[in-house]
Amino acid sequence: MTGQTAKIESRCGSCEGTLVRQVNQFIDNGQLCWDAEVACESCGTGWCEQFGSGETPEDIRSALLAEHGPSRLCVVGPVPNLVSVLKVLREVWEVPIPQARELADKLTDTGLVGTLAEMEFLHTRLRSRGVAAEVRSDAGPEGEQIPS
Ligand SMILES: [Zn+2]
Repeated sequence: MTGQTAKIESRCGSCEGTLVRQVNQFIDNGQLCWDAEVACESCGTGWCEQFGSGETPEDIRSALLAEHGPSRLCVVGPVPNLVSVLKVLREVWEVPIPQARELADKLTDTGLVGTLAEMEFLHTRLRSRGVAAEVRSDAGPEGEQIPS
């Protein structure tokens, strides 16, 4: 299972101990899923905060990106069928066609950047439609700029 976890610490409201909020993003059953849970290391207070699939809340994404750095997905070699790429992009992000085209351009040029789970998810979907791509860590030694 491909996934990433990040932990954010804060102060527990019950015992003043360290409250750890753990956020996860992972691929399960062909779905991109996420969840967040909170637990206190001292008094054991804990609860599942939220969970879901598909579009991940921005605070979870930014925590994962801050902890692990972004990953980059690039289509390798010539694109056999641009329509397949557009289809996958629209399925994954439910974006309108013009935006899917922009994403497809990036994907076949410099690559798309996101969390590891997001890029692996897209990678799997592209592969199932016969589009070869590769995921790499974007935190290269050359300190490449992260496009916003
Ligand atoms: Zn506590």
